Amino acid sequence: MPRHILGFDVGGTKISTVLGDDTGKILGSVRKPTVRHLGRKKLADDLINMGWKLLDDFGLKKPDEIGVVFAGLIDSEKGMVLSSPNILGLKNFAVNKVLEDEFGARAYLENDATAATIAERLFGSGKGVNNFVYITLSTGIGGGAFLNGKLYRGSHGIAGELGHMVVMSNGPVCGCGRRGCLEAIAGGRGIARRVSENITAVNESQLFSKLRPSEIDARKVFEFKRKGDMFSQLIVEETIYYLAVGLVNIINILDPEVLIVGGGLANAGDDLFSPLKTAVREEFKSMYRPVKIVRGLKQGHDLAPISLPIFNDIELTEAQQH
Ligand SMILES: [Zn+2]
Repeated sequence: MPRHILGFDVGGTKISTVLGDDTGKILGSVRKPTVRHLGRKKLADDLINMGWKLLDDFGLKKPDEIGVVFAGLIDSEKGMVLSSPNILGLKNFAVNKVLEDEFGARAYLENDATAATIAERLFGSGKGVNNFVYITLSTGIGGGAFLNGKLYRGSHGIAGELGHMVVMSNGPVCGCGRRGCLEAIAGGRGIARRVSENITAVNESQLFSKLRPSEIDARKVFEFKRKGDMFSQLIVEETIYYLAVGLVNIINILDPEVLIVGGGLANAGDDLFSPLKTAVREEFKSMYRPVKIVRGLKQGHDLAPISLPIFNDIELTEAQQH
């Protein structure tokens, strides 16, 4: 009998609830847009209602375990959200306790990038690979790593902030306060900003000039590049160059076997991966090594919360063996 896992993912744009099992099979999911002023009471109610609805749909009385993914600063041991950039009023929100009391099952909490890294370890290209790095290219840029077969958390639990690596000194100001972070240039928001800032080019581009500023995003840039828009091509080339600088920095420091690229930008597929691999190869200069650059799990978003209880079991078994 597979164990049923109820997964929650509270992200920057949407809140998802997923039902899956311990083999990694996704049974169903429901989503809602994230509302900044939701507050903790309403958020808890939403998660609870979405959770029961999914369980009802599949005729289940309760989940066996719960996985919770949160975009923001969390304490996984205490099962607590420390702060969330997307929803106000969540400081020290004991989300695990709320869900455990409601559903009568144990809950496991991780931040979004760590959970996605764990999903790649269990079900993706990180399976059986001792040293791999996962990088997510989305509105922001984050990541995680398995080193010597173990999840690397760092001494304060926040290792893997790959987006806050400076790739252009004196570059644009990042949300973290530094200048020229990879995220500020090649994150979704950074790409959109680079387009919008070039007013002359936007006005001269047949495609961009028709959009409202709020409609400009990374997806449009890749789409317009495919349609032959010269300005988009320039922005994409610049993005790929800085991504390659960032990836080679990571590779030079950690020497992974595989580098997994996920997040919304990975949906650009070959339009991203093919030039990115070429740019990385060039950026290696004399330090070349055969690191595989692969696309992240297509179902990574749904699998991330489902992975958490499964991974906890594996870690426990490993700890008992030593
Ligand atoms: Zn930064």
